[in-house]
Amino acid sequence: MSQNITPDVTSRRNFLKKFGITVGAAGAVTSLGFLSACSTDDEMVNVLTSDGQTVQVKKSELKVNLEKMQVQGREGIEGKKFVMVIDLAQCKNARKCMAACQGAHHLKPEQHHINVLQMENDDRTGFYFQPKPCQHCDNPPCTKVCPVDATFKRQDGIVLIDNERCIGCRFCIAACPYSARVFNWSEPKYVEGDENKVYDIELNVPQKKGTISKCLFSADRLRIGKLPYCVSACENGVYWFGDANEDAVTNGTSKETVRLSTLLEEKGGYTLLPELGTKPSVYYLPPKDRLFKYQYDEEKDDWMKNHEEGKV
Ligand code: SF4
Repeated sequence: MSQNITPDVTSRRNFLKKFGITVGAAGAVTSLGFLSACSTDDEMVNVLTSDGQTVQVKKSELKVNLEKMQVQGREGIEGKKFVMVIDLAQCKNARKCMAACQGAHHLKPEQHHINVLQMENDDRTGFYFQPKPCQHCDNPPCTKVCPVDATFKRQDGIVLIDNERCIGCRFCIAACPYSARVFNWSEPKYVEGDENKVYDIELNVPQKKGTISKCLFSADRLRIGKLPYCVSACENGVYWFGDANEDAVTNGTSKETVRLSTLLEEKGGYTLLPELGTKPSVYYLPPKDRLFKYQYDEEKDDWMKNHEEGKV
């Protein structure tokens, strides 16, 4: 898998390429990105190519292929079961994962598909940083409450949203025990620039006011054999990503590939809220032997004072 992390807002073009759509202007361009102002019933429609040229293609052909892409997006990738492992011992709150994700998915600064939280299990222990994406649960409560089948789990384990079906009821937000979903209360960040883009169900771009958004495990990147945006952007070796069916995960920084089962067993991997039976596809490795300094707050530490005074 490649380390190129340029947000692939043109992934739809890759699909179009796969489906063999080419344009008439003899070899000038080989892929199509954005629909320009399409006519309604004309046989030919204008499309804007990745290099900024306007060309014409058969509307019927384009429609058929877009429908195929939607179907593929809902089905997922055959034979795969994607998993992520997050090593809390390595996270230094650099937030490169967040920035890459927000850039790719056209999110506002306050919207997060992945958020790095500062955690402290106990007053007497040091804090640590915990990146938290959607857990892509094997038994997802969110999909079960959607009245219009807008959110669904694919065969490869990825939970996605189709914002062309989403009616904004927000039942899924209430059902998710991991607070993994965000709602587009207002017009999205690039409302004008994204206006004529073809909706990509595996990227959830364009974002749409009144619909849900969340982590997609970078389904668009996986489709073309690359690691997710967040995984590739991290420089601290926090993220491992791979396929549970192959029992293999690759580190986004070092590119080392190891056995998933061995990594989890040797480093004490765990999932969040296992008692709920959601069966997350995101595993955590505990924040032990961290490389950053523990910031001890003496003022706060009543327990230590009491201990020194022999009270506890
Ligand atoms: Fe659904 Fe929340 Fe699980 Fe993601 S973490 S699959 S949004 S229940």
